[in-house]
Amino acid sequence: MTLLDLTPRVHADDPLRALPVVIIGAGPIGLAAAANLLERGIDFEVLEAGDDVAASVRAWGHTRLFSPWKHLVDPASRRLLDRVGWRHPDPERAPSGIELVEQYLAPLAAIDEISSRVRTGVEVIGVTREGMDRTRTERRARTPFAVRVRAADGRIDDIAARAVIDASGTYRSPNPLSSSGLDLLGMPEIADRVTAALPDVLGRDRALFAGRHVTVVGAGHSAANTLLALVTLAREEPGTTVSWLIRNAQALRVSSSPDDGLIGRANLGSRTDRAVARGDIVLVDGFEIIRGRRAGEGVELVGHRGGEVATHATDVVVNATGFRPDLGMLREIRLELDDIVEAPKRLAPLIDPNVHSCGTVEPHGFRELMHPEHGFFIVGMKSYGRAPTFLLATGYEQVRSVTSWLAGDMGSASRVDLVLPATGVCSTDLGGGASCC
Ligand SMILES: Cc1cc2nc3c(=O)[nH]c(=O)nc-3n(C[C@H](O)[C@H](O)[C@H](O)COP(=O)(O)OP(=O)(O)OC[C@H]3O[C@@H](n4cnc5c(N)ncnc54)[C@H](O)[C@@H]3O)c2cc1C
Repeated sequence: MTLLDLTPRVHADDPLRALPVVIIGAGPIGLAAAANLLERGIDFEVLEAGDDVAASVRAWGHTRLFSPWKHLVDPASRRLLDRVGWRHPDPERAPSGIELVEQYLAPLAAIDEISSRVRTGVEVIGVTREGMDRTRTERRARTPFAVRVRAADGRIDDIAARAVIDASGTYRSPNPLSSSGLDLLGMPEIADRVTAALPDVLGRDRALFAGRHVTVVGAGHSAANTLLALVTLAREEPGTTVSWLIRNAQALRVSSSPDDGLIGRANLGSRTDRAVARGDIVLVDGFEIIRGRRAGEGVELVGHRGGEVATHATDVVVNATGFRPDLGMLREIRLELDDIVEAPKRLAPLIDPNVHSCGTVEPHGFRELMHPEHGFFIVGMKSYGRAPTFLLATGYEQVRSVTSWLAGDMGSASRVDLVLPATGVCSTDLGGGASCC
């Protein structure tokens, strides 16, 4: 393990000080990082690829969260919102994604000092040090970051930064359908019959599924959410049938978490189990997908089951196999990642789903999130790499610690005494079956 220098190196006379901290992504954690930096009096710029803030949460906005409001609001953001007369939603109620945006994230992003520093429609496509690829060491920590961005009109530019907080989540980089982790063979042939995770089955995307045989692939809570919506659709729309294809022998580890502290999440598992038992969902277990191919109007998934070649025919496929971090844009940054979950090395043992099937995540801050690249942090959902267990309360503590460190307040940065609610942990099936909440 590389020994890290934990001291912030931006001194009063350092030219880096004149530059903003760049935050990648205006999701819940990116905005919380902005609120913390604002409180610290550190300039920042938030770069958001979507047309609006919280673009990823909006995409799954029809889905209800498991956590009640009391665990969803960042303390620093709340202090800012209180100043503009914000009313905290019912703390015991769990919102949908769109309620989270409309009642919390959008008002937060609209606060003048934040809105003036958020740029939407700007995608980060690379991060490096000005004039230095990752092989150059001399004066590295004193050289500004260069954050390469592509604007909606296609224009590409570099933005100088004193530090970078990557809060870009994982929602935009789903796992492939194949068990190998590589792109599914034959995918271009069937792409028009495959949807991303968490479609709005009973709303926007209804016509895609009504009257069809729909196969959901994946063993996590995203899959369970979609399956239950499809069961409802099947009652309303004759001819709709539902299959659930997983690669493990066991149906859903989500369902076998009686100690899951989040009641909504535990209920999701047991409701899914009951739907399988009733025959509303046909479970196809132990199926390792290798290839997809066209079959008339529908598709066939070809793979191995019980040591034999097997074929599963369906009309539409929902890819709920989970998400992975996009590391391509960080190619020139010196990262230290766990070789299994792709989370920062010191964080990985705390969250590795091979070890933690259920339980609480220990509080952690800048120490666990540091990389050999001084001043660069991955936070939020992306910091968990391929582990699907991230909760917002953890991310808020991450950015509180990281921004304290950036401010040179080592006392506050080191004090990570978060007491999380009983979090439980989502079911998982690493590298192809893992699925976020
Ligand atoms: C259906 C669902 C339910 C969940 N329920 C809960 C729950 O009950 N409780 C809980 O605590 N957590 C829950 N989570 C987990 C987690 O809290 C959320 O995924 C949360 O949105 C993560 O926040 P984030 O800010 O890290 O990432 P995101 O919300 O994914 O935000 C990342 C932002 O970065 C932007 N972006 C991505 N790439 C780039 C780029 N290259 N350049 C610029 N911008 C970029 C995206 O557009 C997005 O706006 C749930 C997740 C899902 C999917």
